[in-house]
Amino acid sequence: MALAFSSSPAIHGSLSSSHEQSKVGSQFGSFQHLDRPHILSASLNVSRRRSAAVKPLNAAEPKRNKSIVPSAATIVAPEVGDKVEEEDYEKLAKELENASPLEIMDKALAKFGNDIAIAFSGAEDVALIEYARLTGRPFRVFSLDTGRLNPETYKFFDTVERHYGIHIEYMFPDAVEVQALVRSKGLFSFYEDGHQECCRVRKVRPLRRALKGLRAWITGQRKDQSPGTRSEVPVVQVDPAFEGLDGGLGSLVKWNPVANVDGKDIWNFLRAMNVPVNLLHSQGYVSIGCEPCTRPVLPGQHEREGRWWWEDAKAKECGLHKGNLKQDTLNGNGNGAVHANGSTTVADIFDTKNIVSLSRPGIENLLKLDDRREPWLVVLYAPWCQFCQAMEGSYVELAEKLAGSGVKVAKFRADGDQKTFAQKELQLGSFPTILFFPKNSTRPIKYPTENRDVDSLMAFVNALR
Ligand code: SF4
Repeated sequence: MALAFSSSPAIHGSLSSSHEQSKVGSQFGSFQHLDRPHILSASLNVSRRRSAAVKPLNAAEPKRNKSIVPSAATIVAPEVGDKVEEEDYEKLAKELENASPLEIMDKALAKFGNDIAIAFSGAEDVALIEYARLTGRPFRVFSLDTGRLNPETYKFFDTVERHYGIHIEYMFPDAVEVQALVRSKGLFSFYEDGHQECCRVRKVRPLRRALKGLRAWITGQRKDQSPGTRSEVPVVQVDPAFEGLDGGLGSLVKWNPVANVDGKDIWNFLRAMNVPVNLLHSQGYVSIGCEPCTRPVLPGQHEREGRWWWEDAKAKECGLHKGNLKQDTLNGNGNGAVHANGSTTVADIFDTKNIVSLSRPGIENLLKLDDRREPWLVVLYAPWCQFCQAMEGSYVELAEKLAGSGVKVAKFRADGDQKTFAQKELQLGSFPTILFFPKNSTRPIKYPTENRDVDSLMAFVNALR
């Protein structure tokens, strides 16, 4: 057994004396024995992995390593390896509740190898990259470039890449979706009708694409960050909202190594390890997101007060961690999170030209017809439902594939006032319910499984059309 903290040559480059090491160790109470014989031997194995190792901090003029994957696009389709062993993550979260961030990070990287990546926002979550470096294991980092970040954040991305000798795998929003949003609603629609729609286009969908190429991800969520949404974040969990490589809810694991760490301890750690930070922090910014939606906070103000300050504090998630939002926070009367001004913040979903939005009379007509011109596939949904949100990507993709094929794809919002009707007439049990209306039959056929990936849905349609 060796102390990981004292074994890495890179760490020696950062801390000059055992006194400093013990000082930092005691601040975080975290640098404990790892379950590996020696961290250096783990580092020497790097060439056998599919990744380049992280360069030591003390290298002069570090050059960026070739990333495990050279461009953001490849995060969507990495090599598919064997499935990771099944694990009871609730039990594991309890076991790791008192573990240090370094131990949690080590466990996550050891378990998932190339199928896990750190989500880096360009703020103090750079601590995750530092912890990953300290494990001596190879690691991947991705970021969402929304197109609306501060110049300081872009510069910081570059600094981090150079400092660690890594390539960040950037994910970008779909140009057509951004264009449609901005052309129809302008550049600042989020001030008028809430940030959810813009965040969905610029952040959530690119994130969903990134996560579909992974089996696990690592976030910088902390319990102390948001009073309304993050107070119960576990150190590891099955992701409650997004799908991973193997498809379906439950196919992605979310690690939150700093869930139990206070913001001030993160800062002590960054300073002690001489980690570069975003210049915006020195201007009073704490939590950092997009430029129009982030502002500095005053001493004593909560950091989340600097984000979407025009909205209700309890709903301050951009959708990246929407599993944090509880149903009662999300649905106030079953219709979505409520703004201070009474409007709803959860915008509609399945919103593309290939999906027809059915009104109540529309779906009643569809029910009555026994000789339709074409078959219809209809999802009964509620925009605040996390399972509906999780299948949005597959359903949108399915609609694209079926465009012009003779099968109509539609949606019917079945919560609120429509719920009783949908339960009685449309076999609604829980959200989402998917129905296929064949060409020559009045009775819709209910999609029978919870596999909501594109291939399964397509197989259902092809079997019945
Ligand atoms: Fe859009 Fe603001 Fe969300 Fe950025 S944070 S994606 S600008 S609403």
